[in-house]
Amino acid sequence: MLKKLCSYPGCHKVIEAGVKYCEKHRNTDREKYREYKRRRMKDEEEARRQQFYNSKAWELFRAARAAEQLGIDIYEYYTTGKIVAAENYHHIQEITEAWARRLDAANVIGVSEANHRRIHTEYERSYKAKKKMQKILYAMLERFYRDFVLDGGI
Ligand SMILES: [Zn+2]
Ligand SMILES: [Zn+2]
Repeated sequence: MLKKLCSYPGCHKVIEAGVKYCEKHRNTDREKYREYKRRRMKDEEEARRQQFYNSKAWELFRAARAAEQLGIDIYEYYTTGKIVAAENYHHIQEITEAWARRLDAANVIGVSEANHRRIHTEYERSYKAKKKMQKILYAMLERFYRDFVLDGGI
């Protein structure tokens, strides 16, 4: 049978003449394309995300939530009972995960910088940890609206 070298730069593996690459390098073009596509989609997603967080719509929505939620860190309040100022308005279902819920009052919770980091660390730990944290946050937000917001906004 006719043999040749793998066409991948620097690879000296001997292969059949009918194929371009050895086993190891056969899928690289496809994988490179996939990787390119993945990166491009991520960049587009990031651009959309930034554009949203800089928008007037978000600014107004965020101010309305801050007023409604009394400007406090709801996670801290139901965890330790302490009243701490909220510095971030966190999307429980992140906008990359649920774009349609980006301006949903039932999806945004005020938290301090430290708790915001804590929450995102949980999100990144595992899918299960993320789901668990989201459940806790939704329950706290619902409870807060029941406890403090008369004629509830949500
Ligand atoms: Zn090769
Ligand atoms: Zn967040």
